[in-house]
Amino acid sequence: MPMSTDVRLPREQEPVFPPQCCRCLAEDPEHRVRFSASRFSWAQVFFVWVWLFRKSIKHEVPACGACRGPMRRRKWLELLAFVGVGVLAMSIVIPWVQSMGLNRQWRKLVGIGVAIVIAIPYIIWCVIRPPAFDMTVKEDYVEYEFANGIYARRFAECNPGAMSDDIFVADDFEGDDPVAERDQRGGADARH
Ligand SMILES: [Zn+2]
Repeated sequence: MPMSTDVRLPREQEPVFPPQCCRCLAEDPEHRVRFSASRFSWAQVFFVWVWLFRKSIKHEVPACGACRGPMRRRKWLELLAFVGVGVLAMSIVIPWVQSMGLNRQWRKLVGIGVAIVIAIPYIIWCVIRPPAFDMTVKEDYVEYEFANGIYARRFAECNPGAMSDDIFVADDFEGDDPVAERDQRGGADARH
């Protein structure tokens, strides 16, 4: 997500979330919002049962009373959009593709193609207005994505070994401590 600030941690590393609201930076927020994500694989597109065995990663992210509602609503809205796009694509495309005489796997493939086309406005919305928090699970790392760049930077400082293309600038990085290096530059690159 280009408009969010992303921080990578090894998959087995338990992340430490700074005690601030990840959306508005309020100190010591009284709530936590639960997020879960699992690694995307094409297998789960073709074999629905793979969903049942996927191992998801769950984390609770600090949020203040004012931000908890919008964060939860956004989560449900995304799920609804995801399911809606799938249902729409399948209900419109499958009957149409069936008339072409394609086999089952091809029907799915065409369905996915159309779902992607239908999802484009939603993807653009996510890029322009990223959710307060999101996770992308990869084979050996997890990408923690924050809309608030300042929080992302604090998160990186709280988690040794954190890597980020959005915060650290590899070209002029010479010190041993990426956080100290960044502070010397005034942290101007923390927010995009
Ligand atoms: Zn807040």
